[in-house]
Amino acid sequence: MDECVILKEHQHGLRRDRIAHEALRVLTRLDEAGYKAYLCGGGVRDLLLGRTPKDFDIATDARPEEVKKIFRNCRIIGRRFKLAHVFFRDVIIETATFRARFDAPPPEAEGIPLPTRRRTDVPDPMFATRGGVIVRDNVYGTPEEDARRRDFTINGLFYNIADGSIIDYVGGLKDLENRVLRVIGDPETRYREDPVRMVRAVRIAAQLDFEIEEGAREAIVQLCGELRSSSRERLHEEMLKILNCGSAKAVFDRSWQKGLFQTIYPAFSEWLQTPEGHASMPWVRKALRQFDVWKQAGLKPMPALQHALLFGPRIEAMAAALTADDMPEFEATLQAVHTVLRDKANLTQIPKGVVFDVERILGLQVQMRKSSGQSRYATRLRHRNGFEEALIYLKFASGMDASRKELLARWMAPAGADAPAAAPRKTDGEGRPAAPKKPEVAVRPVPRSAGAATGEAG
Ligand code: ATP
Ligand code: MG
Repeated sequence: MDECVILKEHQHGLRRDRIAHEALRVLTRLDEAGYKAYLCGGGVRDLLLGRTPKDFDIATDARPEEVKKIFRNCRIIGRRFKLAHVFFRDVIIETATFRARFDAPPPEAEGIPLPTRRRTDVPDPMFATRGGVIVRDNVYGTPEEDARRRDFTINGLFYNIADGSIIDYVGGLKDLENRVLRVIGDPETRYREDPVRMVRAVRIAAQLDFEIEEGAREAIVQLCGELRSSSRERLHEEMLKILNCGSAKAVFDRSWQKGLFQTIYPAFSEWLQTPEGHASMPWVRKALRQFDVWKQAGLKPMPALQHALLFGPRIEAMAAALTADDMPEFEATLQAVHTVLRDKANLTQIPKGVVFDVERILGLQVQMRKSSGQSRYATRLRHRNGFEEALIYLKFASGMDASRKELLARWMAPAGADAPAAAPRKTDGEGRPAAPKKPEVAVRPVPRSAGAATGEAG
């Protein structure tokens, strides 16, 4: 077992002023009220690496009801594990009471509470039994237990607001220094407990450019089939995290190597290994690189645009086969979208709304081919929901397939003030456009040229 290592404030590089002021406020108020208040998880990891954290999570010995007493702007969520959400204008700071490792199910509630789950084999610590007697006092634990029930050593570090020290129960500091992602405990046991940890391992390692420790790496190849028992909604959320993490291409390459991607999308992956599908690999890789370029530019495309681009070649190939069998092109496209994205063998549950928006994007490709780009019908198409995304798709596709350049030129020709934006709009948390459509003032950190909007695609 690792010794607890404590680094005093002057012995490490985490500066208090890099912590978001909302998180700092929660930490300070808990501390003033006499509780332990630790910054934990990815926030500590990223700040120690000099990166900007995506979010700040807090661990404390205050019970959720006690947290609620301190903050008026607080709501308690979760059924299995109660968490306190402290609300600010733009962010929610998740504040969790230290949890015991014993019987701890995967903390799925962290991030998003899930309405449904497929796993039924997860013990509920609220009703854990000891000698046959139901007890409910083992939910909360010590800081050390809380660190040990986390997934990776680099995610198990605490920053103590009281004295600015880093507390390391799990050897995370050493692994941060050596750039190693190591599972806390036995990888096989921890992956079986919660298979989504395998996906997290590959994403976080790729994002940080860390090596996954050998045992943890090999266990992924052995156990990725366990993902079939994980919640499909949760896996979809993980997939969105991958597409928007800024290293989507690297995550794909690493998860393909390990057979993880193939487990999650079996039919699509099998097709990618046929001669026809193999020829589409450059498209898939370029799409993923494109997501990384957008992320760097501060853009968050709609999930539907990302799914359209990622699965586009397969959808188009299937639609072409259906059309060859005499199905009208538009109908064939919608059917292909449905078949590829709602495939029961996929381990992610792609929400209906996303599938519907992908149908729009791909359906518009068919409609755009049938129009001059200048007619009244074209004007109507330009005002359809999803047209901006459809045009981005066309730009990307014409970068991969020269035969679409003429079509793109037709649609890029000035159409008065109607010309739509050619870069993804900012979206809200649901992936829906954040503001009413205003093409003329759309977020556009890149020049207006066709190539620039899709980064390398032009
Ligand atoms: P990022 O937010 O940058 O994606 P993160 O590591 O902060 O990465 P979160 O989903 O925000 O990921 O989770 C916060 C912390 O909760 C993690 O750092 C880890 O300590 C713990 N955690 C999250 N998911 C799991 C899991 N499946 N098993 C064990 N611990 C987990
Ligand atoms: Mg986080």
